[in-house]
Amino acid sequence: MTTSFDQLASSILDGKPATEDDALAVLRAHDDELLHVVAAAGRLRREYFGKTVKVNYLVNLKSGLCPENCNYCSQALGSTADILKYKWLNTDEALEQATAGLRGGATRVCMVSSGRGPTNKDVERVADMVGTIKAEHPNVEICACLGLLKDGQAERLRDAGVDAYNHNINTAESHHDTIVQTHTYADRVDTVGKAKSAGLSACSGLIAGLGESDEQLVEALFALRDLGSDSIPVNFLMPFDGTPYENTWELSPARCVKILAMARFVCPDREIRIAAGREMHLRSLQALALHVANSIFLGDYLTSEGQDAAADLELIADNGFVVLGADEDPRPVGAGLSHDPAKRRRGAGTAERPNA
Ligand code: SF4
Repeated sequence: MTTSFDQLASSILDGKPATEDDALAVLRAHDDELLHVVAAAGRLRREYFGKTVKVNYLVNLKSGLCPENCNYCSQALGSTADILKYKWLNTDEALEQATAGLRGGATRVCMVSSGRGPTNKDVERVADMVGTIKAEHPNVEICACLGLLKDGQAERLRDAGVDAYNHNINTAESHHDTIVQTHTYADRVDTVGKAKSAGLSACSGLIAGLGESDEQLVEALFALRDLGSDSIPVNFLMPFDGTPYENTWELSPARCVKILAMARFVCPDREIRIAAGREMHLRSLQALALHVANSIFLGDYLTSEGQDAAADLELIADNGFVVLGADEDPRPVGAGLSHDPAKRRRGAGTAERPNA
């Protein structure tokens, strides 16, 4: 059976880009059509990325204490979220954290700091870290995410060995000022442009679940396409207590898969990364989402914990994918399940509470 989503995938593969109406139709697909959406978007994923999954690892170089007021962020001015707060890691600490991620299977390290943007001294600090990490791990790809850039800073980071720069547009221009007031959408676009002009690969994405409309999600995706973002992290709002978005729950697992699929249809050949909120919002549909997206973060996020890194790698292998840059999965069936089945010691026949 050929579905309208299949036809859309065929037409995209024939070189006809998705329209805004196509994107809206994907977002508004009935949940009963979810597998059709995934199958069609999966054709595009396989065309451009085969069965590879890019594995990224976050190192939070400086956490919390931010003067900006991004309403969704646990590190923002005014946030009372109970998160880790610390000033800059030193170079040895950054190397140790990056090494852990690389040993765990990541090929890209994302070096992130809170704040409006780096001073030139901060850029030098990060340049030193990058030099040290690359000396130890020559094949690593490094993405820096330090906030709004000033003239010359992207070039300095590039010269230090940085490969990519992340700065998310986060949401549609038409929705931006409702989610943050201390900087503008234009500020964000300007930094993506500075990174690209310096020859860095642009990594820019969005956050879903911020009260945006379907049309605004589509607007944001088309903006990212037109900005030339090479990697598009799709974050799902994690509504931290102590932030203006606490108790905001707009997303279902099926909705999240449709958002990722919409991103794939609009930007078929770009890296679509399932970013923060993957475990919380996709839950048991994480595997399905991998048939659409081609990139994830390994382990923990900036201020929240992800599932075990081993579970991330198992998710990839169990679904027939391979980590980009690694050899074909050498794991025999059953590897990783090295423990005996857990013996039941609760419920019927015991005095312990049943697992129900
Ligand atoms: S998103 Fe970045 S700039 Fe905005 S509050 Fe959080 S750390 Fe600060």
